[in-house]
Amino acid sequence: MAYIEPAPIMDKENPFESMMSRFNEAANLLGLDQETYEVLKSPTKQVIVSLPITMDDGKRKVFEGYRVIHSNILGPSKGGIRYDLDVTIDEVKALAAWMTWKCAVVDIPYGGAKGGIICNPRGMSAGELERLTRSYTSALIDVFGPDQDIPAPDMGTGPREMAWLMDEYSKAQGKTVNAVVTGKPLVLGGSLGRVEATGRGVMATALNAMEKLKINPSRATCAIQGFGNVGSNAAVLLEERGLRVVAISDQTGGYYNERGLDIQDAIEYRNKNKGILEGYPNADRISNDDLLVAKVDVLVPAAKEDVITVHNADKIQAKLIVEGANGPTNAKADKIIHENGISVVPDILANAGGVTVSYFEWVQNRIGYRWSLDRVNRRTDRVMGDAFNRVYETSVKYKVSMRLAAYIVAIAKVAETYKFRGGY
Ligand code: GLU
Repeated sequence: MAYIEPAPIMDKENPFESMMSRFNEAANLLGLDQETYEVLKSPTKQVIVSLPITMDDGKRKVFEGYRVIHSNILGPSKGGIRYDLDVTIDEVKALAAWMTWKCAVVDIPYGGAKGGIICNPRGMSAGELERLTRSYTSALIDVFGPDQDIPAPDMGTGPREMAWLMDEYSKAQGKTVNAVVTGKPLVLGGSLGRVEATGRGVMATALNAMEKLKINPSRATCAIQGFGNVGSNAAVLLEERGLRVVAISDQTGGYYNERGLDIQDAIEYRNKNKGILEGYPNADRISNDDLLVAKVDVLVPAAKEDVITVHNADKIQAKLIVEGANGPTNAKADKIIHENGISVVPDILANAGGVTVSYFEWVQNRIGYRWSLDRVNRRTDRVMGDAFNRVYETSVKYKVSMRLAAYIVAIAKVAETYKFRGGY
C-alpha cells in the first residue's frame, strides 16, 4: 500500500510574524538602536536539507529537514528538533528565535536554534525513524557540535532520537561526544530530571504567579491542553501541589472531570494505549476548543503554537495562563487577553525549565560527572525562581505584561552582550 500522509495545515497565523511583533514592541520600549535591532531580527544561519530514506517497503521517500540558528551571541546555539507534518521554515525560524530569548531570560550561556523535519513520526517504524535521524545528523554534521550548536528533543522526538544523533555524530568524529546533544537516555550521559524538567518549570512559574495573584493552589482548578512530555508532567506536579486538574487533552480531544482527574491513572492509560488518551473512561468528553475556554483558575496550553487566537481569546475564563508550549498565544490574541485582565506567564519563561536542565546535562557531560536528582532540581528551581522575579519586576517597572517584560529582559541581555563582542 502506498504511504500517504495528510496534507499539512496551511491556515495558521505565521509564527515568525507573531514572534516579531512582540520583539518589535519590546525593542521600542527598550529604545533598542537600529543597528542592533537589525542584527537580532535576522537568523544567523538557515539550512535546508533533503533526506532520501529507504522506507520499510523498499521504496525511497524524500523528507525535507531544517536547522535554523537564530543567534550565537550568548554562546553555542541551543534548541530542539521537531518531527511533525506541520513543520515549516517560518515555524522553525520563530522557534529558533524563541530559544534565543528563552536562554537569555533564564540567564544560561546559549544562543538559540531549532530544527525540524516534515514527517509523521507516529506513522513511521523505529527503523525508518532511525534512518531519518541518522541521515539528518549526517547532513548537518558541520553545523552541530558541543561548542557550536546543540540539539535536544522537541515535539515528536525524545531520548531515543537523541541517542541516534549522538551516535551518528560520534562516529563521524571518531570518538564519543555526548555533549553534542541533550535530552539523551541516562546511560548515555543524560541528566536526571531532564524528562520532567519542562513540566517542573511550568509548575514552579505557575505557583510563583499564583502567589502574586493571591490564588490559593489547594483551592484552584486547572485545565491542561496537550498530554505529551510537557503537559503530563506539569499535570502530575500541579496535582501534587494541590491543584485540581479538571481537564486534559491531546490530539484525540479533551477529557473533563469536575471533581478532578486522577492524573497517574490517565498517564497509565495513555502509556498502554499507544501514547494517546482516546477512549479514556474516567472522564466526560469535551473538545480541545472547549478546554481552552473552560471555567478554571489556571490554563496551561502545552500542545503547540497558535491555539489561543482572536477567535477564542475573549471567551477564556482562566485568571492565569501558563504557556507550556512555544507560542500557543498568537500576537493578535495578546491584546484581548491583557485587556481582559488575564495574567500570562509567557512561553519563553514558563517552559524554560527544559533548556535549563539541558544546560545542566551539557555541564555534567563536560565535567564528566553526574549530579543527583536533588541537585538538578534545586538548581533548576533557583534558576526558574530568579527568572520569574526578573520578569515580574520588569513588568512592574515598565507597566507591561509579563510577556513583554520577558522580551525586554532577553533583548537587553543579548544586545548588551553584542555590544561587547562587536562585529565587522
Ligand atoms: N525543545 C525544548 C524547548 O523548546 C528544549 C530545548 C533544549 O533543551 O535545548 O525549549
